[in-house]
Amino acid sequence: MQNLETHPKSRRPVHQLEIERPDRMEEACGVFAVQALEQPVANLVYFGLYALQHRGQESAGIAVFNEGKVRLHKDMGLVSQVFDQDVLERMPGGLAVGHNRYSTTGSSKVCNAQPVVLMTRLGPFALAHNGNLVNASELRAQVDDGEVEFTSTTDSELIAYAVQQAVDGGLDWTEGIKAAASQCQGAFSLVIGTPDALYGLRDGYGIRPLVYGYLGDQGLGHWVLSSETCGLDIIGSPFVADVEPGELVVFRCGDPTPERHRWIEPTTRMCVFEMIYFARPDSRFFGESLYSYRQRIGQILARESAVEADLVIGVPDSGIPAAIGYSQTSGIPYADGLIKNRYVGRTFIQPTQAMREAGIRVKLNPLPDVLTGKRVLVIDDSIVRGTTSQKLVQALRDAGAIEVHMRISSPPVTHPCFYGIDTDTQDQLIAARLTLQEIEEHLKVDSLAYLSKEGMVEAAHAQSEHFCTACFDGNYPVPMDASIKASKLMLEPAGVAATNL
Ligand code: SF4
Repeated sequence: MQNLETHPKSRRPVHQLEIERPDRMEEACGVFAVQALEQPVANLVYFGLYALQHRGQESAGIAVFNEGKVRLHKDMGLVSQVFDQDVLERMPGGLAVGHNRYSTTGSSKVCNAQPVVLMTRLGPFALAHNGNLVNASELRAQVDDGEVEFTSTTDSELIAYAVQQAVDGGLDWTEGIKAAASQCQGAFSLVIGTPDALYGLRDGYGIRPLVYGYLGDQGLGHWVLSSETCGLDIIGSPFVADVEPGELVVFRCGDPTPERHRWIEPTTRMCVFEMIYFARPDSRFFGESLYSYRQRIGQILARESAVEADLVIGVPDSGIPAAIGYSQTSGIPYADGLIKNRYVGRTFIQPTQAMREAGIRVKLNPLPDVLTGKRVLVIDDSIVRGTTSQKLVQALRDAGAIEVHMRISSPPVTHPCFYGIDTDTQDQLIAARLTLQEIEEHLKVDSLAYLSKEGMVEAAHAQSEHFCTACFDGNYPVPMDASIKASKLMLEPAGVAATNL
């Protein structure tokens, strides 16, 4: 457990813990921050992180600024395990930055928990990052001036050092943060707290989301930054705007109007997987809830791949809106055929294959009363390795289903993600290795169909060029060093995606 304060003259990080090199430097996280006028905000950040728990379940942290000092508390575990009322009461202050983290195997350590807190000539700052850099090695070489003592294995710490060095080199906070962002390539939605302002920044592609809201009367309230709008909702903060791709928004203490800076010309490529699966269904993207988007996906899926069945069920939670949409368009009745234990983390979030395999058994329970003697159409959001889908199909048959038809509310995942979502190497992705018919046989389903890429984009009412769809087509928006690509792209034959799409 970390609960340490900065030492004003030290350039060292405030926590000095064990160093371990991970196999990979990637993460999927939630960030949340509040800036208020002389009102304690740690509790608000706690609730915000609680709403964003689905984005990271391995560690949580909050850094609170009070009278020029920062107090940091972070640890492994869920938000509700890391914080209690006693801890929060010992964290007074009107500006706070919080973070939920998911890490890959080998880097699930408290030293990698965030926020990262460093000292500069202008005072301390706290940084929380959602995303993944593709130039971490280069950035590490740039920031390693011989004095830096890395205490984590995250790319987020590198971004923090880049900010520190820019500020210590003479820039003010705003210019220093912009300069640091200019050294980064990849996906990065950042929230940064300083003693007198809160900063929210998105990379030029806007791969990971970041929104802000305002709580309270003009001039007396709280500015809130959150990965998703569900973080605003939980504390009753109305949504104001997205931090746009390539934008830095500054919320200065005592100034009722945020400053908006364009730090780089944007080329929007938002992660479409956020909409399909990753973000919470009650979060709003492009002015509507993802529940509505996912329902529309189901309607399109019904149009694209009709099948005769007695009932439609969804794999909780993200498959359910699509199953309802499928039912609406097809006329096949919708039913709850799978009950989810809501106290188990999402299969996707668990860091090892062994845990993934165990996860499906403890997480979902089929309802024989609903399924027995029925031709069942089951809708899931994606198939990555196929292991959990195979077990699910068997579980439905064991519960009495006489036919199992599977529909997937996304196209086949054929390429790994380098931008902050753990999708394994390409050789682990079933759709990169097998044809549709081979996957059907592997899963032992009576039929299988995926949503088309066109259908996925049509459901969003947006242009395909506004999205990153790389895990479905290999078109990576951010240029990457060949060695980084090779680290996950273990099946390189040209056309592998086209073969399976
Ligand atoms: S590769 Fe896939 S998961 Fe990764 S950012 Fe792009 S769309 Fe999202």
